[in-house]
Amino acid sequence: MSPDTYLSHGVIDPDDFGGAVNPPVFHASTVTFRNLDDMEARGRAMSVADTDVMWYGRKGTPTTFALQNALAQLEGGHRSLLVSSGLAACTSAIMAFVKAGDHILVSDSVYGPTRHYVETVLARCNVSATFYDPTLGPDIAALFRPTTTLVFAESPGSQTFEMQDIPAIAKVAHRHGAVVVIDNTWATPLFFKPFEHGVDVSVHAGTKYIVGHSDALMGVITTNRESWNTVREYVFATGQHAGPDDVYLAQRGLRTMAVRLERHQRSGLAIADWLAGRPEVAQVLHPGLPGAPGHALWRRDFTGASGLFSVVLKPGYGREAFRAFIDDLKLFRLGFSWGGFESLVMPFDPSEKRPAAAWPYAGQAFRLHVGLEAKEDLIADLEAAFRRLVGQ
Ligand SMILES: *Cc1c(COP(=O)(O)O)cnc(C)c1O
Repeated sequence: MSPDTYLSHGVIDPDDFGGAVNPPVFHASTVTFRNLDDMEARGRAMSVADTDVMWYGRKGTPTTFALQNALAQLEGGHRSLLVSSGLAACTSAIMAFVKAGDHILVSDSVYGPTRHYVETVLARCNVSATFYDPTLGPDIAALFRPTTTLVFAESPGSQTFEMQDIPAIAKVAHRHGAVVVIDNTWATPLFFKPFEHGVDVSVHAGTKYIVGHSDALMGVITTNRESWNTVREYVFATGQHAGPDDVYLAQRGLRTMAVRLERHQRSGLAIADWLAGRPEVAQVLHPGLPGAPGHALWRRDFTGASGLFSVVLKPGYGREAFRAFIDDLKLFRLGFSWGGFESLVMPFDPSEKRPAAAWPYAGQAFRLHVGLEAKEDLIADLEAAFRRLVGQ
């Protein structure tokens, strides 16, 4: 079944819910049992057979199970778990595998709050980290130590959009007995299949394109067969949970994700191409754009692009000119997060935070999320901003 058809028909079996095509929203903490035998049988089903059973609200309900199974199926993983946020998915996927004394490798282009967690909480737990240049590929081998147990990748990188050679990195990691975790949020479960490229665990900020409407937070952790028990044990042992109404919103968003992404992709590429032709622009960082950094790897490994990319201006535009550019944008509102129906802009400066891969640009940089608006309106908004930038 193609993903588009699966999203309409495969997420649940309506006959399980009286014919309704959406799963009911179970609000449950307490789950009661008919008798002692029932309780014991369900306990065995959950812990030994590892099947989806109602046991206690924290461990999921049919609302949760439907979304978890759909996401695992779409991405080609063994199973998925939902947690409260994308960041919780990132930190849990790391913490599940490490112990005091371990060393991990983390991409220098990783999502900022993931880096913060590695530098604070993990460091306090005596897990050390080396940040690696995301474009290293197989040369990452030189960074492994006998204590290296995990590689955390994100491709393309947050804000800076470097592509990584994931199969090459996974090959080296596995040779050293390390697991590979990827933050696959940008590609969604549709456009990059991590488990076909050697990844062990994939995480998503479901908050972005899965929820798709900027109204709920959600994290997803999907694993291959070998990593499942380790992740499941960690997530259950630490009491992670996603609330039923948020899970329902994510399930509802997921149904239209493929069709939304078609538009994000098309408008995003058109606007990236238009920006690349502007005299004020030094570089467009969109791996789906021919000629942009990382495009060859994107073409080799990915089947599509979402609507998020960055732009670096030529040097020489000062703070006031840049403020005039950003402040009066009408359709690109200034805000964090992305993946909803609306366009967004976010200035950034990675130069202070990149120990391994120095930021090569001197001009002002900003990230765009291209939403579902008409692309002509978005281009007109940017055109007016460029006029303000150059003082016309
Ligand atoms: C937003 C984001 C996260 C965190 O998701 P939240 O749900 O906001 O915690 C993690 N990784 C990437 C790449 C993100 O863009």
